Amino acid sequence: MSTSSKKTRIVVIGVGAVGSTTAYTLLLRHRMDELVLLDANMDKARGDAQDMNHGLPFVGNVKVWAGTYEDCREADIVIITAGAAQKPGESRIDLLKRNVAIYESITTEVLKYNDHGILLIASNPVDVMSYFTLKKSNWPVNRVIGSGTLLDSARFRYLIGEKLNVDPRSVHAHIVGEHGDSELPLWSLSNIAGSQLSLSEEDKTEIFENTKNAAYQIISSKGATYYAIALALDRICVAILRNEGAVLNVSTLLQDYHGVSDVFLGVPCIVDRTGVREVLHVTLNEQEKQQLTASANKLKEIIESVEM
Ligand code: NAD
Repeated sequence: MSTSSKKTRIVVIGVGAVGSTTAYTLLLRHRMDELVLLDANMDKARGDAQDMNHGLPFVGNVKVWAGTYEDCREADIVIITAGAAQKPGESRIDLLKRNVAIYESITTEVLKYNDHGILLIASNPVDVMSYFTLKKSNWPVNRVIGSGTLLDSARFRYLIGEKLNVDPRSVHAHIVGEHGDSELPLWSLSNIAGSQLSLSEEDKTEIFENTKNAAYQIISSKGATYYAIALALDRICVAILRNEGAVLNVSTLLQDYHGVSDVFLGVPCIVDRTGVREVLHVTLNEQEKQQLTASANKLKEIIESVEM
C-alpha cells in the first residue's frame, strides 16, 4: 500500500493475542511492504512469521520476518502490544505496575535505532503507558499515539447502530477520556446524518454500560479481546501511512483541553503522516466537562502513584 518508492515498514512488538491478530490484519489488508514481528518469546514470533509467510501466495508481496530491535531502524510505525494481558475480573489499572517495567525496557531498545517513526501504543492501561512512553522517550508529542478510545467508540457506534438498525459506519458517536472505567459518552455530539438519536434514557444507559464493560464481558467469555482492537490499530496505521487526516479518537497528551492538561486521554484527533496533527477542541456540555476532568484526575493519580 506504499505511496512512495520507499518501502513502508511496520514493527509489531509483542505478538500475543493482540499483536499477532494486528499483524495478520495488516497483512491481509496489505498495509505495508515489510512487517517485522518481535516478542520476548522469539519462538512465537518466528512461528507467526513462518505461518504468515505461508499465506503470501494468497495475499501478495509483503515481506514478513521475526526480527530484532535493530529492525526498528527503518520502521515507519512501531506498534507496541507487549505486556501482561488482563485477567478475568482484573481492572486495567491493576496491570499497570507489571506493564510499566516491560515498556521501559522496550522503548529504550526501540529508541536506540529509530528517531523518526511513530510509536503506536496498545498495551493497557493504554493512556498511562502512552504517557510514560512519551515522558521517557522525549519524542515529539505527535509521534506517540495511544489507541485510546477508538475501540470503545467503535463498540459504542456498533451498539447504537444495532439498537437503531443503522450501519455503524453511519453512526457518529464518540467515547472520550480514559480507555477504561472512567471513560464517557459524548451524547451531546452523537448523531446519524446530523439528526439526534431516537434513544430513551434507558437505551442510552444500556448502550453505554455495554460499551464500557465490553472488555470485561469478552475476557470472561474467551480470555482476551483481539479482533476489534486489531482493526482499530489497522485503522490508525492506514491514517498514518496514507496521510489521511482522519478523525480518530486516539490517546494524546492534552494541554488546556477543557481545563485538562498533562495527561493522555482519548479525544477526537486528526491523524496523518505526522501522527496526531491536531487535537480537536469539540464542544462539551457541563456534565461532559466534569466527567472528562474526573477521568483526567483519575489517570493523574495513577501516574503519580507510579512515579513515587
Ligand atoms: P498476550 O499475553 O497474549 O501477549 C502479550 C505478549 O507480549 C506475549 O506474547 C509476551 O511474550 C509479549 N511480551 C511480554 N514482555 C515482552 C517484552 N519485554 N518484549 C517483547 N514482548 C514481550 O496479551 P494480549 O491479549 O495480546 O494483550 C496485550 C496487551 O494489549 C495487554 O496489555 C492488553 O490489556 C492490551 N489490550 C489493549 C486493548 C486496547 O484497546 N488498547 C485491547 C485489548 C488488549
